[in-house]
Order: sequence, then structure tokens, then C-alpha cells
Amino acid sequence: AYQAIDEVALLAERKARFGANLKLSYKRPVTFLRGWRHHLFDAMGRPYLDAYNNVPHVGHAHPRIRKVAMDQLARMNSNTRYLHPAPMALAERLTAKLPKELEVCFFVNSGSEANELALRLARAASGGYDIVTPDHGYHGNTTGAIDISAYKFNKPNMGGRKPWVQLVDVADDYRGRFRRDDADRALHYAQQVDGALAAIAERGGKVAGFIAETFPSVGGQIIPPPGYLAAVYERIRAAGGICIADEVQTGLGRLGDYYFGFEQQNVRPDIVVLGKPLGNGHPIGALITTRAIAERFAEGPEYFSTFGGSNLSCRIASEVLDIVEQEGLSANAKAMGEKLLAGMRALMADYPCVGDVRGIGLFLGLELVTDRETLEPATDAAAHVMNRLRDMRILVGREGPADNILKIRPPLTVGADDVEMILDRLRICLREVEAAR
Ligand code: PMP
Repeated sequence: AYQAIDEVALLAERKARFGANLKLSYKRPVTFLRGWRHHLFDAMGRPYLDAYNNVPHVGHAHPRIRKVAMDQLARMNSNTRYLHPAPMALAERLTAKLPKELEVCFFVNSGSEANELALRLARAASGGYDIVTPDHGYHGNTTGAIDISAYKFNKPNMGGRKPWVQLVDVADDYRGRFRRDDADRALHYAQQVDGALAAIAERGGKVAGFIAETFPSVGGQIIPPPGYLAAVYERIRAAGGICIADEVQTGLGRLGDYYFGFEQQNVRPDIVVLGKPLGNGHPIGALITTRAIAERFAEGPEYFSTFGGSNLSCRIASEVLDIVEQEGLSANAKAMGEKLLAGMRALMADYPCVGDVRGIGLFLGLELVTDRETLEPATDAAAHVMNRLRDMRILVGREGPADNILKIRPPLTVGADDVEMILDRLRICLREVEAAR
């Protein structure tokens, strides 16, 4: 039935009831009431193509997710203090996708919580406390996660970097310190870990581990050069540290050929962290680690989460993994990602404001610059494109330290028509950017 929504009143109410840093995506916000696959429908019933949201991994309002959730809610929903088949079924599905050494699971309620737990496990297993992490990373909104998220702690009033955190550069080979013309760039970035470990020794500390988004997302949809993580992990392990892969953005089939991002880097992390897409919108995060690390952690107090690993959450997450498999969504992510990337390369050939296009599967970035030599970020142009795409009913995001990278990261259900629409409308926007120069 038609539902009248007064968007002006809704916005005023939101401002009255919530803090100003609970951000909206657009200055002129949009209200969505329904979703279906990779489409969202606004208060007037108008469709939008959701090319931004990685949480509805298998598509908005998937009937199988609704069915399994309703079924479990009708039966019961409880915590992990009683036996139930659902957590074991999910653990089985997840570990089947991971290297065999990663065999012990923890289920939590968010990516932030999974990263908090990863810090505790790394510290328990290593006996160290200090963390090495790339600059401009994001691992969550809790106190511990913010401490390891330069994207947050470097903002005003956030207290800055804690002495137990050592930053290395993001391995951005487009605009970073070491670029694509340097054949040894992966090694050069990884060698910064030596400096971080030396700084830890100097302050009398001990490394607990290294944590990174396998492909940094808020850092600007970065694909590190081949060999980067292997060279980092080697250094961290030699110092007794634990290697943590935050796969919240990159895991579960989004990358097409790689079910997890670390496969592309040919490494085996000691801890893998999952979130966002795992519940297709239902809050669930996960951490998977080795038996040895889990045993060190188990020497501490009881581990318990009221909601983490509930019957309901686990059944939903298992269903998500099954749908990815049964609907061939990894293969679709690969095919659609390649089509998007090829189209974005063609746009780059036509429009000088496109400095770089990159990505794997449906994890993509298009970087806008005012000058291809100086790489001056075209932040205003990126804002223009994002807003104009919204006018044309396509949702994308913006990332990177200068907010000049368009982030394209749709549900894995997008098809060839959708990709053509994105490219066609992007072309219109880029033409406008060039005309305004
Ligand atoms: N890690 C990464 C890489 C993320 O992108 C996010 C969320 N954007 C988180 C952790 C935190 O997850 P959550 O918001 O579920 O706590």
C-alpha cells in the first residue's frame, strides 16, 4: 500500500533526535522504503541502482533470507550456551572455504567486534601488545578498533596515534611513495614494517601483530602490488607477531576468482575477520583462527557474547554462503567486474580527469584528478559525479584521504544491463566534469 512520507519532516526529526555526526549520504537526502536485488525504491516508488552497498551481498530482500529468518524466529532464538546445529553448520561452511589451518570460529555482532576480538587473540598468542597497520585504515567504531584505524584517530579530538600503534604507508602504487614504475614496490612498502618493528623495540615494546584490510577500502579502493602481504607477513612472523586479515569488505566472493582477498596475495593469515556481507544486513561478524591461537586465548577468562552466534544469525549467514554458491554469484562478480573495469578503462582513455581505474571483481575504484602529472585530487569533481549519478538514480560512494575516488561496490547480483547503465551515466558525468574545467 502507498505510504505517504513527509521527507522534510523526517529530516527535521532525524536532526532533532540524532547527533550531527550520524551522517547521511547526500546533502539532499534520499528515503528508501523497499529493496529488491540490487535496486532500491524511494518514497515515491522510484527505482535506484544500488552500486554502492556491499552489505546486501546476495541482493536486497532476498526471499531465501526472509524465509530462513522467519523459520528460525518461529522456532527459537538463543545464545551459544546450549547446543544447536546452526553454529556448527556455519563454522563448517566457512572453514571449508579457508585454508585448513584456520579451523576455530568466533561469531560476533559486527566487524568492529570481530576486530576487537582479533586484537585480544593476537595479544594472547604473541605475548606482545603493539600493532603495525597501514595508514588510513578502518577497522570499526569501538575504542580498540578506532585505536588501530588511522582514518579515525587522525581526525580532530580523537587523540591521535597511541604509542603502541605503528603506521606504515598504504601500499598505493598509483599515488603513494612507490609507484607502478618501480618493479620492487611491493618489497619497498613491506620494508617499512622493518622500521615499525624497530620503533616498537626502541620503546621497549613487543609486537602483537599486523592488521590490514586486505584491499584498503576507505584508503581509496587500493589493490596492493603482488607480493606485498607475503613480504609483510614474513617480517611480522619473524618478530613473533600474528597476521590479521580484515576481510570485511573483500570476503565471501565479491572478488570473483578469490573467495577472500588474501588468496590474491598468496598468503595465509593467522586470523581472518568477516562482517558486513555475512548476514546480508542481519548483524553478524566472524573471526576464524588457528587451533594454537584459540588455545592461547582460551587460557584467559570465559568467552561469551549474548547475541554473537545466535541460532538466527548463524542460519542467516549459512544461507548467505549457500546463495553465493548456488546462484553463481562469485562468477557473476568476476564477469560483471571485468565488464565494468573494461568500460572504466575506456572512460579513462576519453577523459583526462580519470587518473586511474582499478579493482578486482565488484570491488572497484575510479580516481579523479585535476592533472595526470601532479595527481592533484579532483575532490569537487568526485562529489559532482556522485551527486549527478544519484540524480540519474545510481548510488555510488566516495573514498580516499582526499575523497576523490568513486567507490563502486554493488550487491553481487548486478547484471550486464546494470553495468552498461553505470558506464553510460558515468560518461555523462565525466563529460560534465571536463566541460566545467
Ligand atoms: N572493517 C572494515 C574493513 C570495514 O569496512 C568496517 C565497516 N565499514 C568494519 C571493519 C567495521 O564493521 P562494523 O561497522 O560492522 O562494526
